[in-house]
Amino acid sequence: MKVIKNYVHGKEQSTSKKLIDVYDPSKGEPCARVALSNNQDFEIALKSSISSQLEWSKQTPLKRSRILAKYKSLIERDTDKLAEIISIEHGKTLEDAKGSITRGLEVVEFAVGIPHLLKGEFSQNVGSNIDSWSIRQPLGVCAGVTPFNFPAMVPMWMFPISIACGNSFILKPSEKDPSCSLKLAELFSEAGLPDGVFNVVQGDKEVVDMILNSSQIKSISFVGSTPVAKYIYKEAAKNLKRVQSLGGAKNHLVVMPDANLDQAVDGIIGAAYGSAGERCMAVSVAVAVGEIADKLVNKIHTKSQSLKVGPWSHNDSEMGPVISKEHKEKIEQYIEQGVKEGALLLEDGRKIKIQGYENGYFLGPTLFDKVKENMSIYKEEIFGPVLSVIRVKDYDSAVGLINDHQYGNGTSIYTSNGDIARHFTTNIKIGMVGVNVPIPVPMAFHSFGGWKESLFGDYAMHGEEGVRFYTQLKTTTSRWPENIISGPEFKMPTN
Ligand code: NAD
Repeated sequence: MKVIKNYVHGKEQSTSKKLIDVYDPSKGEPCARVALSNNQDFEIALKSSISSQLEWSKQTPLKRSRILAKYKSLIERDTDKLAEIISIEHGKTLEDAKGSITRGLEVVEFAVGIPHLLKGEFSQNVGSNIDSWSIRQPLGVCAGVTPFNFPAMVPMWMFPISIACGNSFILKPSEKDPSCSLKLAELFSEAGLPDGVFNVVQGDKEVVDMILNSSQIKSISFVGSTPVAKYIYKEAAKNLKRVQSLGGAKNHLVVMPDANLDQAVDGIIGAAYGSAGERCMAVSVAVAVGEIADKLVNKIHTKSQSLKVGPWSHNDSEMGPVISKEHKEKIEQYIEQGVKEGALLLEDGRKIKIQGYENGYFLGPTLFDKVKENMSIYKEEIFGPVLSVIRVKDYDSAVGLINDHQYGNGTSIYTSNGDIARHFTTNIKIGMVGVNVPIPVPMAFHSFGGWKESLFGDYAMHGEEGVRFYTQLKTTTSRWPENIISGPEFKMPTN
């Protein structure tokens, strides 16, 4: 069986003998093995990253930009191949995988503009014959640790900008779908990126801890579950690293009585069940306000029953399996718990069977009505195709629910009332907000990040926040000509 290794200094390599299986979730069987990096592998990668960064940072931003532009065209050329790699190990449909690559590609497009993004600020005559300017310089070696659910897009939130800024980057992808990272690295080499500027180390917690403990790595970007995000945030800070750490989510979509119901239902179905609910911006709670509840639930229920669940290799599949047997069991336990706690199970995804794929990790769309705030299916992130409908009497109650929830990643409201929409976008305590759109994921030239338990750190991903995260500010104050001598000054200069 194929062994997936690290990509370090322009080639695949690994010394580790510790191999674990990578699964094809549609078939429920191993499709490859991945070598989990040991200390020697990590040191080889780190050495390569340190030496390459020194040279890379001396390249002009324009030259870096041209390599990124070439990289963009190579990703476009190989999108189909990349999508297949993702679908085999993740299970999502090909079209969904392609969409996620495009969203990552947009960050590469943004990073192509790095000469403009790195333009500094200049002030002439801050004092007599004294000028002052600010520039942003690279940090050095940066690292990223990423989740299984977007093996192309989430790493691409990080490394294109970091590398464009003149850093080298070490990516530690999820061990559940590691192949995509190798293809992304290989294409970057083909685009002309010098060896070692982008290295990939495979592994689990052990290599993440090596990253956290290395004083040579200046920043860490993390995306994954909240408990691990908290761990990364604390350990990185303890080791005096710059850190951005994105966690889990429980995204609510509010449907007002004046909403366009069909539009809202289509939005909910796609956002709740697309990618089997394994998106950090998936809608897992529909909040039905007032008298719209019965109609809303009926329509969601009817549509959910016609959803096509199947393997990515079937053209008509709209939703694939979940990532693993363990994760499937965890979701099934949540469903069981929801029933025990008194929610009304209208559609039970546990009963689904896909002919020819009986061992795959498939779950059908699951729908709960009459969910209450104190139930575990409402309080916790399930990360599967399970939608909870919670009924509230009015708009204020909907806002109260969302603002009191521990997570603060995304939310959305469907309404035809501009006042309500404006009040919502102003007062809701959530990082990414939609009005009449189901998944308000910001484009690459804005920034992606939640609030509360969904993000720890001061910076969101990509956009100008990304450029700030991956650079440090330097401000110079300079006096010319040099023959002005005015004697020492002992008070603060006041111009
Ligand atoms: P995870 O937290 O289990 O793993 C994420 C990464 O951390 C992986 O690379 C993994 O190897 C590593 N890791 C796991 N346990 C670790 C530990 N104890 N110490 C150090 N490193 C560890 O997450 P996942 O299951 O791969 O992904 C799903 C989660 O990611 C969900 O909670 C989802 O909401 C979240 N997510 C969030 C966003 C966002 O933007 N906020 C985006 C995508 C996914």
